[in-house]
Amino acid sequence: MNILITGGAGFIGSNLSEFHINRGDTVVAVDDLSTGRKENLAALIGQECFSFVKADLLSWTDLAAEVTKADRIYHLAAVVGMFRVLKESVAVTRINVGATERVLEAAANGPNNPQIIIASSSSVYGHSSDQLALSEGIDLAFSIERGGLTGYALSKLTNEIQAQAYHEQCGIKVVIPRLFNVVGPHQSGNYGFVIPRFIQQALDGVPLTVFGDGSQIRSFCDVRDTMAALDKLAAIGDDPGEVQNGEVVNVGNTREISILELAKLVIARAGSSSTIQFVPFDQAYGEHFDHITQRKPIVEKLERLTGFSPQWTLEETIDDLLKHIRQEATL
Ligand code: UDP
Repeated sequence: MNILITGGAGFIGSNLSEFHINRGDTVVAVDDLSTGRKENLAALIGQECFSFVKADLLSWTDLAAEVTKADRIYHLAAVVGMFRVLKESVAVTRINVGATERVLEAAANGPNNPQIIIASSSSVYGHSSDQLALSEGIDLAFSIERGGLTGYALSKLTNEIQAQAYHEQCGIKVVIPRLFNVVGPHQSGNYGFVIPRFIQQALDGVPLTVFGDGSQIRSFCDVRDTMAALDKLAAIGDDPGEVQNGEVVNVGNTREISILELAKLVIARAGSSSTIQFVPFDQAYGEHFDHITQRKPIVEKLERLTGFSPQWTLEETIDDLLKHIRQEATL
């Protein structure tokens, strides 16, 4: 199968590149390297079935040609990470909405009908996540006055609407996973993501920076589980039987943990002497940041469509990351 991955040098994109190369597919990974890193693709560069293109999706002239060659497209390229999203708010809508439009338009105008996976995010639940049950059909709540995440959330919600519009009007095949707190190898803590930050802090023996009082709750999903779910969703989309294309599907792990408990868990797994430092939200993210207290996916739809169940426990993921980072440090 020919696979095109936008954001291919990023955290999820580089893992997906590896997943498909190991399965015998041909992969083209495109990335502007704004947050993605070529080092994430070190094991793949030079392999016959893999190619990397450094390009900005808003201006990439080969996009249509590459879309035409692809059987499956993962569109992951976006401005992501809380620190970057808050700092580069213009880029959030310009890139997240503009790049998605170009990918969908190229697919709609092309001669093939590739299966597309448009990565959405649990952040589309916005402040509806004050509710406990985040299932795909609930009403969504946003406030222009409640925090800088709204722009990102709405860019991702727009991606969903764009994808559904192209599906309905042009017949393109697209599934839209809402990804909940993905974690795993190649994820950088530079842009905010909590687990790589805690792991690095624990290994450096410096305090773990828990934002707020740490009572906020998240559900983390190992990237290898996320990828398995995306692969199953994409394959189902290929099935001419039941119509799954155009659908939004939560993808995540339902286990919940508070950020304070997470910090303690990382310290324990690392055998670290680090302490915990509480950092007020406004110091971490700037004023008027309204944090999300809880975000747990309801995954009934994913289970029904794919039979998916996660294989990685949070402890296994943390241990694996500790191993990876310790190995890198000795190279
Ligand atoms: N967080 C934290 N310390 C850090 C980085 C993040 O306490 O050094 C918190 C953050 O405020 C949030 C949770 O960890 O409540 C998850 O943050 P992340 O940026 O990984 O994902 P998201 O906020 O999108 O769920």
